[in-house]
Amino acid sequence: MCGIAGVWNVEEAYNVMHDVLLALQHRGQQSAGMVINDFNSVKGEGLVENVLTDDKYIAGNKCIGHVRYSTYGSLNEIQPITAHTLKGRISVAHNGNIVDADEKRRFIMESGGIFSTTLDTEVIIHYFSIAPYESPRESLQWALSRIKASYSIVLLHDSFLAAARDQFGIRPLFYGKFQNGYIIASEDSALKTVGCEQIYEIEPGTIVFFTDDREPETLRFAKRQDRFCSFEFVYFARPDSSFYGVNTHEVRKELGRKLFEEHGVKSDFIVPVLDSGLSGALGYSQVSGVPLEFGLIKNHYIGRSFIMPKNRQDIVRRKLAPISSVLSGKEVILIDDSIVRGTTMKVIVDMVKEAGAKKVVVGIHSPPVVGPCNYGIDTSRRSELIASEKEFDKLREYIGADKLMYLSVEGYRKVFEKCGVRGICMGCFDLNYPV
Ligand code: AMP
Repeated sequence: MCGIAGVWNVEEAYNVMHDVLLALQHRGQQSAGMVINDFNSVKGEGLVENVLTDDKYIAGNKCIGHVRYSTYGSLNEIQPITAHTLKGRISVAHNGNIVDADEKRRFIMESGGIFSTTLDTEVIIHYFSIAPYESPRESLQWALSRIKASYSIVLLHDSFLAAARDQFGIRPLFYGKFQNGYIIASEDSALKTVGCEQIYEIEPGTIVFFTDDREPETLRFAKRQDRFCSFEFVYFARPDSSFYGVNTHEVRKELGRKLFEEHGVKSDFIVPVLDSGLSGALGYSQVSGVPLEFGLIKNHYIGRSFIMPKNRQDIVRRKLAPISSVLSGKEVILIDDSIVRGTTMKVIVDMVKEAGAKKVVVGIHSPPVVGPCNYGIDTSRRSELIASEKEFDKLREYIGADKLMYLSVEGYRKVFEKCGVRGICMGCFDLNYPV
């Protein structure tokens, strides 16, 4: 998963991009990068505040940026990537995974093309370059009409900035008015944070062009067939972000409510697994009448543990800590958003038991993750997905819970319907993939 952003016609674009990427930092912490004005770039490994520092400031009023959490390509290749073409210079920042990137790279290479990175993103640049048009706009339209999924991109060209989403709208993208210009970002909350007005969700299958002296122009390149990633709602996005006008925190609460509706389990109190289980736990608590307690606290100065390299068990222990005086002798329900590889929940259950809890029920406000994501979330290979590898009882035993509750696939689907979100991808839960 990654976060992308663009700034068009805004003074001190460098500083604005810094702030927008900071608001998108949860979408990727491996690297950050920006390409500004005359295609100058500032890039580095690690967090935004360590990469886009004051001493690297470049004056300019347009730029694109990226925070990375790699799902494809080598780790040390940092976006945006820039190239020279006959149609002008372009630079691209991408969120998603181009599912047939390997075939497309081969196709280009067979006719003599060369690649300078292993990133699937570079395919977009090549298709732009080989498009049978002189006009860069038409070339982009042509290129995207030939690349199915998944991508949300921002693209800086000599003569415009473009923002586009694949026809399924798998990954999010928004833009908003800011002073005399515009800002583009993966999540609307990032736009609100910096003070944008009039925020728009970019339609799947369209490109929005930002050019001088004109209002943004939207061009369609493929028929809209919405299959927005439902995992964005479950886990990935910020709780203050909305997609299709529906707030993620509200959806998570509703998922928590549904979990209680399906299982009806009560206990002394509910312990939310911070931060991602908090909204769901709140929903469960509201409908069950079981109070919330902070049996676990979180150290916010350690990054998301899923993303860190090795020894995830130790990282979870450093990130979360149990409060023994709360947990000792109690029956508790731990609520989290999902179980992917199972490492996190196993460590948490161990910690809660070590702290003296008498009975630990684990409640997950989404269905078992049984399929990998091919569209840009690093939900591993199938063999690493614990719910795909182990039978339900073995999984419960492995994580050490006295009881394990998942939301049913049907219940999950119904929550989205109830919240008014139509056209989602649930491939990791029901193996029904749009592409
Ligand atoms: P695990 O089961 O140990 O793989 O970790 C699952 C936990 O990590 C979930 O409870 C989420 O809070 C978080 N998580 C789920 N999916 C992802 C992902 N693709 N990237 C980062 N963190 C994730």
